[in-house]
Amino acid sequence: MAKISSRLLGVSESATLKLNATVQEMRAKGVDVINLTAGEPDFFVHEAGKKAVIDAVAANHSKYTPAAGLPELRKLIADKTNRQQPKVSKAKPWTPGNVIVSNGGKQALFNAFLAILDPTGQDEVVIPSPYWLSYPEMVKIAGGVPRLVRAPFEQGFKLKPEQLESALTARTKAVLLNSPSNPTGVMYSQEELTQLGKVLERAAREKCPDLWVISDEIYDRNVFGKTPFCSFLEAAPQLRDRTITVNGMSKSAAMTGWRVGWSVAGPELTQAMLTLQGQSTSGINALAQWASIAVLKVPEDEFRPQVESFRKRRDIALDILKKAGKIQVIEPEGAFYAFVGFGGFLRKGEDSLEFAQRLLEQAKVAVVPGTPFGEPEFVRLSFATDEESLREGCRRIVDYVETA
Ligand code: PLP
Repeated sequence: MAKISSRLLGVSESATLKLNATVQEMRAKGVDVINLTAGEPDFFVHEAGKKAVIDAVAANHSKYTPAAGLPELRKLIADKTNRQQPKVSKAKPWTPGNVIVSNGGKQALFNAFLAILDPTGQDEVVIPSPYWLSYPEMVKIAGGVPRLVRAPFEQGFKLKPEQLESALTARTKAVLLNSPSNPTGVMYSQEELTQLGKVLERAAREKCPDLWVISDEIYDRNVFGKTPFCSFLEAAPQLRDRTITVNGMSKSAAMTGWRVGWSVAGPELTQAMLTLQGQSTSGINALAQWASIAVLKVPEDEFRPQVESFRKRRDIALDILKKAGKIQVIEPEGAFYAFVGFGGFLRKGEDSLEFAQRLLEQAKVAVVPGTPFGEPEFVRLSFATDEESLREGCRRIVDYVETA
């Protein structure tokens, strides 16, 4: 067979998408599987968004949009970011020119890595581990090296400033931050982000002049614990010109399939990312942009029931899971996942991949193994599912591990 590019050597397929396919196959055969793998909210798009699409179709909004997105949408995104970053917005507010609307946060991240990293296999991106499984793969595709820094369960799955300090070298081109986190649901407080920001500022001055910070804030609305959401630049406004804030409609407005994300960054990097996007995909689907304009205007209050429902389900899941004595779990404060350690139940030589397979085949519950997220003894459970299925799924897991 003719050869495939070496760019893809060592790059993994998305584990979550593969797992979902297995669940679908089992269900097609009539097996009663509870699926706790969902990486997307189980709500519908707000009526305002649906109506906007229908209106846009009727108004013949069918042409290419500007590659960076519709001006009104970019303005709404700049405004939202300024609201989340009052310190930045007071000193030097974001404008629509700083915004690129992309095909999901995923494309925004891809744009950022491709624009920042030289394809020499030398440039490093520091990624706290556990991490969302696409980050290292994206870095590899862009020709960089993921530098994983483990923040284990014992330290609350959060990176300590001194760990960050020692991971930064002259080769570091970027640091990735993600709060609330997928897969752990943990959140950094403003004070914790400030401390990380101080380390980054000093490092940029002293040892990594080309340092960028990529702050993935895609779960900003899905917050239900004691820690309020804090945008990285609100905690470290001095890093404004080195930071790319990534966000989108997928998790906050249940619009995963409509593929709307964005980046907010300084003008040079935005121009570089725009060149990339212009030459690869152009502007995103026009109808999804019209929907996003409408949904971004919906008052925050209207999303509270969704957030409240995630909080309730988190409590349901944890109450049941905690009955299994030997599990390890940190109460998630954001996103819609619990990252649960089953080290005490693993068989000799087994990791979460085999364990998740056993759970699927024997307990008929699908969860995502933690191995591709950097924690081989943990699994990720999603509570973006109805309460009854969640209860039943958690009960099955507890019954299974207690008796297997
Ligand atoms: N960042 C994180 C942490 C995610 O979990 C996801 C999706 O699962 C994304 C980014 C990308 O989401 P989308 O491309 O749908 O905006």
